[in-house]
Amino acid sequence: AQHGAAANVVFMTLEANRIRLIMELRGQGITDAKVLGAIERVPREVFVPDTFRDQAYENMALPIGSGQTISQPAVVAFMTQELKIGERMKVLEVGTGSGYQAAVLAKLCRRLYSIERHRELLVEAERKFRELRINNITAKVGDGTKGWPEQAPFDRIIVTAAATREIPHALLDQLAPDGLMIAPMGDTARDQHLYRFSFDAEGNLEQEKMWPVRFVPLIGEEEGKASG
Ligand code: SAM
Repeated sequence: AQHGAAANVVFMTLEANRIRLIMELRGQGITDAKVLGAIERVPREVFVPDTFRDQAYENMALPIGSGQTISQPAVVAFMTQELKIGERMKVLEVGTGSGYQAAVLAKLCRRLYSIERHRELLVEAERKFRELRINNITAKVGDGTKGWPEQAPFDRIIVTAAATREIPHALLDQLAPDGLMIAPMGDTARDQHLYRFSFDAEGNLEQEKMWPVRFVPLIGEEEGKASG
């Protein structure tokens, strides 16, 4: 543990880095003040392992154990901005991981539901939600490719692990008619992009390819099953 002056220096460095990161995100096209505000209010250092604490505000993904990662701040910011979250919305996240993205989303929506397949990660994430007094997240251990039928429909769905070929149809089924889903899809090592899914006025699924990304794979029973 750090004490006195030393702790103060660490804190001030983190503060300076946090401000620098917000400016960097703004420069990269994150213009939504609510999204920037949410990122500013969530201490990322709480969600990274102690050994990486001094890198908490670097714009990069970091390891969090169980072979998983906390996503890069720019990716968290872009996905959050694209979701266009309203304060009354019910949002589902697949892949809680460190809980960082969940904490950012929870600042913007009414209630966030989040599913993680690794129990150790979920236990840690929930401890952090309590520590930060974030009370509008309901999380569980499970296979997120099945969604969370008891809580559906969701106004927004965000998937933070990459499906190889198809988005699990269970997730599309649990999306509200005017809902929006953002998810990475494609081979983790090569051609992976973020996609936006929504329905047109006739209820047909629309899929739009956005930017290249690199996420860990989505692992679950419904992965790879074609959508209806
Ligand atoms: N949103 C996270 C954050 O802010 O730290 C990043 C998550 S990490 C890139 C992806 C997470 O998805 C991993 O923790 C992984 O265990 C989880 N995951 C992969 N397949 C899953 C599934 N079918 N259901 C639930 N979680 C899954």
